[in-house]
Amino acid sequence: MTGPSATVALFAVDESTARGRRISEPPPTHRSEFQRDRDRVIHSSAFRRLVYKTQVFVNHEGDLYRTRLTHSLEVAQIARTVAGALSLNEYLVEAICLAHDLGHTPFGHAGQDALNACMRDHGGFEHNLQSLRVVDELEEKYADFAGLNLMYETREGILKHCSSRHARGLGELGRRFLEGRQPALEAQLANLADEVAYNSHDVDDGLRAGLLGVDELREVTIFSRAYDEVRRRYPELQGRRLIYEIVRRLIGYMVDDLVEESSRRLLEAAPVSVEEVRSADRPLMGFSRSMADQHRQLKRFLMHHLYRHPRVVKMSNRAWGTLTELFEAYQSDIRLMPSEFSLAAENAAQKRGESARLRVVADYIAGMTDRYAILEHDRLFPADGAD
Ligand code: MG
Repeated sequence: MTGPSATVALFAVDESTARGRRISEPPPTHRSEFQRDRDRVIHSSAFRRLVYKTQVFVNHEGDLYRTRLTHSLEVAQIARTVAGALSLNEYLVEAICLAHDLGHTPFGHAGQDALNACMRDHGGFEHNLQSLRVVDELEEKYADFAGLNLMYETREGILKHCSSRHARGLGELGRRFLEGRQPALEAQLANLADEVAYNSHDVDDGLRAGLLGVDELREVTIFSRAYDEVRRRYPELQGRRLIYEIVRRLIGYMVDDLVEESSRRLLEAAPVSVEEVRSADRPLMGFSRSMADQHRQLKRFLMHHLYRHPRVVKMSNRAWGTLTELFEAYQSDIRLMPSEFSLAAENAAQKRGESARLRVVADYIAGMTDRYAILEHDRLFPADGAD
């Protein structure tokens, strides 16, 4: 073995038994293979663009809200803590978390839904699949291969959901969706850390944006537990500090529960290899039933009060219109895209037909930041710029 490698449990992914890269490369000298994956993600251009992509709030709405970049960093930080506590592979989980949102369109979920609708007759658009496409094909950095040539286990974690239609075309990586198998623990963990991060930071952003109120949130069990605890300790605390003392407890409750419940499941199932983890009849990482219920309650609350808040809906509608009009403009004239994309679209059309041509358009739009999409829309539709 070359390079540093943290000691991991038998049920964790270990690089000496990992499935490796699609194109073999000499081993790294001062890093482990999964550290190399993490570094490749951080150096990718898709990663840098995450700073200007929305979570819930459109990027230029305010500088204090989460973007996809800070979200990804929070996910990675939460996941590494849990990985350390359970002796999982921290570098692998970090690489997965930093890469998990690389395929996100501008304007968050509204953008993804709009692009999916535009591509409806041409294979649709799924952001998880797009994240994999970014690391497998779209990044252009290396002389010997397209994409980042990441380890199988990292790619497995990035593809957290996938429709069976697409899974069939993905070979080994897609098989688990068809066979109902689990991914490695690090992939399961990255998925859960994503939920911990967005549920807690959306509460934080929603409160600070004034779209949510502390009093209405107290009807949510996990929030009122945190609120009561903070109040007992700091009866006079107000404003920003009150919010943050609550939010840090939300993260703490979820992380503690995740570590305890996953330890219990691992002890009970006692897997001695990653293969046993993959063939287990249920995920071995997870929340206790009580925490899963509380989590669902919080999610439902956020759905009703934040994601469907008139101000957020207004942003989402506008975003939907912007991306749809961009798509239609490029669809009718691919020369409106930069020459590398219009040439790629032309080539794709000649070799593989209309769906391949539009896939290049979707790739181009998906890669945009919020502000670039707005600028580009203003350029193509100058009359709309005034409203
Ligand atoms: Mg995410």
